[in-house]
Amino acid sequence: MRPPTPAGDELRHRTWDVVVVGAGPAGATAAAHLGSAGHRVLLLDRHGFPRDKVCGDGLIADTLGALERLTALPAVRARARTLARTSIYSASRHRIEIDGDFLTLRRRDLDAIVAHRAVEQGAVMATGTVADVQPDAEGVTKSLREPLLQKFPAALLGRLVVIPYYPLSDEMISNIVRLQLGRIADRVVEHHRIPFEYDEAAVKLIVSRCTEVESGGRMIDTILTNTVLPAISREFLTRTMTGLVLTGVRLSAANGDFAYAFEGAPAEAEMLGL
Ligand SMILES: Cc1cc2nc3c(=O)[nH]c(=O)nc-3n(C[C@H](O)[C@H](O)[C@H](O)COP(=O)(O)OP(=O)(O)OC[C@H]3O[C@@H](n4cnc5c(N)ncnc54)[C@H](O)[C@@H]3O)c2cc1C
Repeated sequence: MRPPTPAGDELRHRTWDVVVVGAGPAGATAAAHLGSAGHRVLLLDRHGFPRDKVCGDGLIADTLGALERLTALPAVRARARTLARTSIYSASRHRIEIDGDFLTLRRRDLDAIVAHRAVEQGAVMATGTVADVQPDAEGVTKSLREPLLQKFPAALLGRLVVIPYYPLSDEMISNIVRLQLGRIADRVVEHHRIPFEYDEAAVKLIVSRCTEVESGGRMIDTILTNTVLPAISREFLTRTMTGLVLTGVRLSAANGDFAYAFEGAPAEAEMLGL
């Protein structure tokens, strides 16, 4: 049983009351109940359904009750194996036998039935991985109002504009790092007429060192100004003093630290034997 999945484009422009992340039994059950209560529900799972899952596949009385409230029990019973007794083993191999109504059904089938029920109740199901969750600025501003009113008079808050602050994601920080390294490359070309290159290992190392999210992009500047630029400048000076010139600089990372490759040649004066 494959729950219907709309195309991504169709979803992008819609507004949802609830987005349920994960279409396992818990998420799909919640989506079904929310859908039947009239909410606009998007049910997302990173796997396309039907999908299997490691599980003992046993359904006990509590689960059967939940499936009944979902009116999914007949569909489950139709596919499941029914048992009148189950044995539970303790870690020390003691066995308890329990009589009752038990079913076993592969998760591939169980989860698809429950997800299908959610779709029948109005939820829209789609495949997608949720990588990050960010509240919208309007929602953050509204939820900040109450705590701010406990500290500041309403008259003062009326004269202020609250601007919510979002921490930078790793991707945004990587982009800022590339911009800053690009600026260094421009400066090196402008002042020394040699290329400055860097690779993704260097970018990743800088991002991994930006541990204080509150500092935003400022830490990148600090890392470059206090670590990378002095190392390059030192090499420029040393080469100049020893009669060599740099013809290129390459920045990378190895063993958790920056790795520099300096290409050089004898200075023109030295080559001419002056
Ligand atoms: C070995 C084993 C045996 C078990 N045997 C039994 C048993 O016999 N009977 C029983 O009742 N229980 C059993 N369980 C427990 C049962 O598997 C869990 O209780 C049940 O799966 C929990 O359901 P859920 O909906 O909360 O989460 P899950 O079933 O884990 O579903 C979570 C869903 O979320 C999706 N997801 C996760 N992250 C994201 C993301 N970022 N973006 C999009 N989608 C995402 C996943 O793809 C997954 O489909 C067993 C568990 C194990 C490990």
